[in-house]
Parts: sequence; C-alpha cells; structure tokens
Amino acid sequence: MKELVNRIEKDGRILGEDVLKVDSFLTHQVDPLLIKQVGYRFASHFAEAKVSKIVTLETSGIAPAVFAAEKLGVPLIIARKSKSLTMKEELLTSSVYSFTKQETNQISISSKFLSKEDHVLIIDDFLANGQAAKGLIELCSQAGATVEAVGIVIEKSFQEGRQLIEDMGTNVVSLARIASLGDGAISFLEGDA
Ligand code: 5GP
Repeated sequence: MKELVNRIEKDGRILGEDVLKVDSFLTHQVDPLLIKQVGYRFASHFAEAKVSKIVTLETSGIAPAVFAAEKLGVPLIIARKSKSLTMKEELLTSSVYSFTKQETNQISISSKFLSKEDHVLIIDDFLANGQAAKGLIELCSQAGATVEAVGIVIEKSFQEGRQLIEDMGTNVVSLARIASLGDGAISFLEGDA
C-alpha cells in the first residue's frame, strides 16, 4: 500500500537491527486518516471472503481493525492480554511470547463471541516471529471458527512469522513488507494489497 510505505519511509525509526518504531502514526499516536485507509484496504481486499468477525489483539491492532470492521459491517473482537475482573464467563485462552516486551502473556477472548459458524479475519499491526498471530489462530480454533486470513499492517519479512502462519495453513496478507532494517535503512518488498 503506497501511502503506508511512504509514511513508514518518512516517519519510521529503526531500533537496533530488527525493530521498527512507528509511534507517530500507528502504535502510540494514531493518524486516523491513514489508518482508516489501511482498515478500508483490508475491507476491500476481503470484500468477497465471507468474513463474519474480525479479531485483533490489544492494543495497536485495534485502530486498523475497527475501520476494517466498520467497512465490512461485522463486529470486532479484541483479544485481551490480561484478564479483566469483568471477564467472568468461559474463556478461550492461549499463551503468546511478545517480541517487543520479551514476556509471555496469556491472551483470551470470551467464548460467547466466537462460534463454529464464524469466519474470522485476524488483523494485527506487526508480524515478526508470528507468535501473536499464532495465538489468535489458536483462540479461533478452540471455538471451532474458520480463519479466513491474517491481515498485517507491517510485516517484517526477514523474520519467520509469515512462514509459521502459512505452515499452519493460513493465508497472510500484508500491506507493507519490509525486507530489511539493516545499515540504518528500511528496504521494502512488494506488499500483498
Ligand atoms: P510476533 O508475535 O509476530 O513476533 O510479533 C508481533 C507483535 O509484536 C505485534 O503485535 C507488535 O505489537 C509487536 N512487534 C513486533 N515487531 C515489532 C516492531 O518492529 N515494531 C513494533 N512497534 N512492534 C513490533
């Protein structure tokens, strides 16, 4: 997605060799105009797929996912990283090792929101080693729901996430694909949509 790639080139900051900071438009401050376009791009790409729900993981997947959900006319489910006192019902759970926080979180969704009739589009901000997406796929599988695809805003294609998710039999659609963050430069592959 050209507008997204342009913005990453303009405002993305490289931390070390493998982390991209995009806190001025996606992960901390959100640019609603750009992120709305991102959400709508997912919606148009999956317009013909029979998506009944979108699932994301708090926090940075929420903004693009809510725009996609609005455009597709389906509910958005936000998987939680910590158990809230108000979540008293039966839960679908999975453990996810966080690449950026270097800690393991128990992620969960209330089982009442997903069923075997559902066709789910998973949306997340980044794909690195694929642990977050894998955990979300596992939650959907526990409910017997079908995962149509994983939609990613920024894929770091030099890490193993895409391979892991494709090996699980799930299609990955990434709007920006980063080939490398080496030598202080961001280089891109062709995006999927
Ligand atoms: P994975 O589970 O695929 O290893 O990592 C994906 C998750 O880690 C994303 O949900 C995102 O929150 C975080 N993440 C991974 N790599 C980056 C990165 O380069 N920059 C930022 N801001 N977050 C990242």
